[in-house]
Amino acid sequence: MEQGFATRAVHAGRSDFAELGVHAPPIDLSSTYPTPDLDAAARSFDSLVSGDAPQGSFVYQRLFNPTTDRFEKALAELEGAADAAAFASGMAAFSAVLLAAKSRGSHVVAVRPMYGTADHLLTSGLLGMEVTWTTQDEIFSAIRHDTALVAIETPANPTLDLVDIASVVRQAGTVPVLVDSTFATPVLQRPLENGAALVLHSATKFLGGHGDVLAGVVAGSHALVRDIKYVRAATGGLLHPLSSYLLHRGLQTLELRVRRAQATAIMLARRLAEDPRIGSVRFPGLPAQDPRMLIGRQMQGPGSVLSFELSNSDPQAMRAFVGALKLITPAVSLGSTDTLIQPPAVLTHRVVDAAARAQTGITGGLLRLSAGLEEARDLWRDLDQALAMVPGRVAERREMAGV
Ligand SMILES: *Cc1c(COP(=O)(O)O)cnc(C)c1O
Repeated sequence: MEQGFATRAVHAGRSDFAELGVHAPPIDLSSTYPTPDLDAAARSFDSLVSGDAPQGSFVYQRLFNPTTDRFEKALAELEGAADAAAFASGMAAFSAVLLAAKSRGSHVVAVRPMYGTADHLLTSGLLGMEVTWTTQDEIFSAIRHDTALVAIETPANPTLDLVDIASVVRQAGTVPVLVDSTFATPVLQRPLENGAALVLHSATKFLGGHGDVLAGVVAGSHALVRDIKYVRAATGGLLHPLSSYLLHRGLQTLELRVRRAQATAIMLARRLAEDPRIGSVRFPGLPAQDPRMLIGRQMQGPGSVLSFELSNSDPQAMRAFVGALKLITPAVSLGSTDTLIQPPAVLTHRVVDAAARAQTGITGGLLRLSAGLEEARDLWRDLDQALAMVPGRVAERREMAGV
């Protein structure tokens, strides 16, 4: 029988340890490698610049690093992928995916909302790709003869909309589908099992999990990852071996962290949803917030990120609330040990077209919260005391004043 996820997460990329006589993976920081046999090194160079495995010497760190390779193999195993490529950030990974796709065409079909800078990269045409933004039900009609990629994010940042991966894959036909699965992690969702060609993570978030690594990783078939490694060898952006070590280490506790934070998020979402000081809560674990019934089918649970608005929609009320938090850290990013909160329209998604923001529910008062590993009741206490500092809705205040 196949081993469970937690077992594989602990042991992935470590099968040669007994042979090496070590208990933790060695870190190789070499920027270059001795090449006494020039012809052998030249053959290895040719292999690496094509995106293939080394043939002997690793030659140069931008082409290959064994510590990064270990993390890639481990992550690929957990995603059920043949291979993976790790980058210095999630955006570097996404850029390489787009550049690699250009050999097939220069058109991308994508679904909003997605991470603000990913939206910006596609909309700006910075990498020479033209984008058609559409909905998950209209992928088929957006595909053109030169469409090279369909890009989706589920759960979506920051509204937590869920996208039906299998449906998108069916509509995309022969066009590869990339799924940004950052919010789900392979603990809760493995997009390749639903037919996606590539899965991407901002490893800065849950995979790193401790707020101290910036990284990205993309996994898929040998052929697609080879094309991506070909781009990486030419453009740079390989993940640093110390970061790779931390990510590989972090995979061992990923399941524990994801499930603990998820349980906390479920509790906080319920409390917020029934609190009159809160205007709305977006969380796929709440009743009626998973209309396509994807939880249990595509995703094992709702994850640990939620978004909400205060009842008082005055921008100053939101600022007062964030300023009054004592335990929760007001900061961008997510998936850290500590709970983080930020308003996407003001920070992460300010690079997104304002009309598109409004259309996809990224209002000025929306707050995105990523539950950390603290005690849930301490987090609730912090939210509760900060909510108490916020004036109520304008209408409520009038009632109280007898107006
Ligand atoms: C943060 C994030 C990214 C970008 O990753 P970086 O590591 O910051 O470059 C991409 N997608 C999602 C969903 C994210 O949350």
